[in-house]
Amino acid sequence: MMSSLLSPQILEEFSKEDSSEDTVASAVKVARNAYEHWKDVPITERSKLLRAIRSQLLRHMDEIVDIMIEETGKVVTEAVVSEAVVSCEVLSYYASNAASILKTRSVYPGLLINKRGYKRYEPLGVIGVISPWNYPLVLALGPVATALAAGNAVILKPSEYTPKTGMLIGSLIAKAGAPEGLVQVITGHGPTGEALVRSGVDKIAFTGSVRSGKAVMRAASDTLTPVVLELGGKDPFIVCRDANLDRAARAAVWGAFTNCGQTCMATERVYVVKEVYDVFVDKVISLAAKLHQGTAPSDDVGAVIHKGQLDIIDRHLADAVERGAKVVCGGEHVDVGGRPSMEPTVLLEVDHSMAVMREETFGPLLPIMKVEDEDEALRLANDSQYGLNASIFAKDRRVIDKLVAGLHSGNVCVNDVMISYGIPALPFGGIGDSGFGRSHGPEGLREMAHLKSVAEDRFGFSREPSWMPVPTWLAKAVKTGLDLLYRPGSDRQDSVDRNGTPIRMYINSKEVEVG
Ligand code: NAD
Repeated sequence: MMSSLLSPQILEEFSKEDSSEDTVASAVKVARNAYEHWKDVPITERSKLLRAIRSQLLRHMDEIVDIMIEETGKVVTEAVVSEAVVSCEVLSYYASNAASILKTRSVYPGLLINKRGYKRYEPLGVIGVISPWNYPLVLALGPVATALAAGNAVILKPSEYTPKTGMLIGSLIAKAGAPEGLVQVITGHGPTGEALVRSGVDKIAFTGSVRSGKAVMRAASDTLTPVVLELGGKDPFIVCRDANLDRAARAAVWGAFTNCGQTCMATERVYVVKEVYDVFVDKVISLAAKLHQGTAPSDDVGAVIHKGQLDIIDRHLADAVERGAKVVCGGEHVDVGGRPSMEPTVLLEVDHSMAVMREETFGPLLPIMKVEDEDEALRLANDSQYGLNASIFAKDRRVIDKLVAGLHSGNVCVNDVMISYGIPALPFGGIGDSGFGRSHGPEGLREMAHLKSVAEDRFGFSREPSWMPVPTWLAKAVKTGLDLLYRPGSDRQDSVDRNGTPIRMYINSKEVEVG
């Protein structure tokens, strides 16, 4: 019989605990000891551990999926397709690519041809990973595996709503053969997370809300602990006049309602060019009306995680309706496996005065807005403090390129939705209130490494020309050399521009003439 990852008693007991500051401090101490050994383990060996974790994940998939469903109310397809697949992909990508991504690289030394410059990527030490509840497997295992690949020890603090999934992740990493203490799990609410931020770890990889992200950054500033912040979103979805409307409608429905809308890169607002608005809306309504919500394996949409999240969804819905929005599908509460939830809901006649178009809803609301043209769609898409992901549905290459370039967003999907996160080689992260730093791709691994720049003398002469005592001819010779190398050819006066207008600059907000 297959052995389980952790006994139900252990899961029950620890899931209720809030680790204290002292517990966190002891965990960091143990992690530091484990790090002293792990940092010298060759990358090829670290890659073996990642592959072994992947094997353990596959072996214990059902157990982990069941716990995720118990903790979040998500449907089985979401747990397997969105979480397990991306987890395996991230493990495989770094197992195969960590060595080349972290290899020492030479740089061109410029004028200093007697020097060699190179960049080294070294482990940072102990990384604190703080994760949310909405994708409790991939958003915890992903950063933990990345930190391990870069040679660090890790302390994982899973969400207080999904502590058991977090503990199972720790257990499968131990079963995969990780040295004792290299990966530890601490359970608890926000204050436990804050204790981790303040504990002297070498970096925090945080995924969660903007509010908590700001608190993490404030706490981290005391110790100048670097942070990666993967925060919320209000992702726009643009439908252009030449879009494949069947694909766009299905994508919008999946993007808005998968995980019951509780995805950082969910489709939270749709802008449709007026010529195709009616057809697109009809397609969306007919698809949304057929969705099955519940806990059965055949269901499409699961539950809202808890009452607090439902309250936010209710507030956005009520505010939209009060300001003139029309509910054309859903809009009622529904019980999903004992959790009070919201039906998949489509809203029309929406505008940017409404919270549903401006604040992160994190629930199954799909507001659709008619726009004049692609330019208006772009302007409205960018009218947001968030910038995580965006979707464009169009065929014309020029329109696609213009929208891709114009979107204020960390990630863009073209004729697709949310899929950028599924490509492990593609760096993922936000701009604006959606945070900074990247997970996935080479950049995601290098986030977990210390970049050391080395300049090395090549010839070993007993002095350099600029060392003291400085020769009196040096400054003049260097000026002549720079002139020969870089001086512009024109003898145009440089206190006026090419139209003869005096050139100005600002000092202390006052305009002064240059020259
Ligand atoms: P949350 O901010 O409430 O909690 C996230 C984690 O932070 C939890 O582990 C929590 O205990 C911890 N935490 C809370 N306060 C803290 C503090 N002061 N110091 C340290 N840790 C603290 O978020 P949530 O409700 O679990 O998750 C939903 C949010 O996460 C949404 O806003 C969603 O958009 C965002 N999210 C972002 C991404 C991304 O990759 N950008 C992915 C998933 C979710």
